[in-house]
Amino acid sequence: MNRMPVLFLGHGSPMNAIETNVYTQTLSQLGKSLPKPRAILCVSAHWETDGTRVTRMARPRTIHDFHGFPKALFDVQYPAAGSVDLADTISSLVKSTRVQADEKEWGLDHGAWSVLKHLYPQAEIPVVQLSLDRRQPASFHFQLERELTALREQGVLILGSGNVVHNLRKINWDEAARPWDWAVEFNDWMKDRLLARDYESIIDAATKTSAGKLSHPTLDHYWPLLYVLGASEDSDQLRFEYEGYQHASISMLSFSMS
Ligand code: ZN
Repeated sequence: MNRMPVLFLGHGSPMNAIETNVYTQTLSQLGKSLPKPRAILCVSAHWETDGTRVTRMARPRTIHDFHGFPKALFDVQYPAAGSVDLADTISSLVKSTRVQADEKEWGLDHGAWSVLKHLYPQAEIPVVQLSLDRRQPASFHFQLERELTALREQGVLILGSGNVVHNLRKINWDEAARPWDWAVEFNDWMKDRLLARDYESIIDAATKTSAGKLSHPTLDHYWPLLYVLGASEDSDQLRFEYEGYQHASISMLSFSMS
């Protein structure tokens, strides 16, 4: 079994799920070029809970967790199987906190399926989601995934789905609008720190600098990045898979480490 890369994808607007643009075409290509995983562990910005949970279900439902979008988006189904085995493995690998099995409540939210639909359009790979414990500090999110690095050797693709810059209050409805200066500043800073493997600075950056705070009025879209870094290893090669902005206040920066 190949050791799998880890992947961070900016997901932006749910509309990307049904649009065709340079970003979605990049995801389609990426799905073809990555080694084929046995299963996917997805950490999405859109599943926050008290405590950490993992989906433990044979058939996770497709959740349409948004409002005010066209019917075509609500019609999307992503019928990937779940994996009870992988959920159990995750619960047993993590020692620092109890990972509670979720057998009924969640499924796949749009943070997961809006990108998976382009990566693996056939939905042939089982997907498990891990939730974000909203009560925890940034360092917790980074450390937790450290305990799951071994999954990479077992053919599991660890996928974080969030955004390096995500401020819905500063959104411009023109998708191609010029990004805000602070968005570019934080995005460029992040690229630089990723290249330097300066995870210590990255962990708290969204609450420390003014560009960081503007880029993340809430931390939900930042935390998935920390899981991906947590699962990376020093020997991994960093590769920026996509760079760009949507709606002036969302960075679509996506990268792999393998
Ligand atoms: Zn989102």
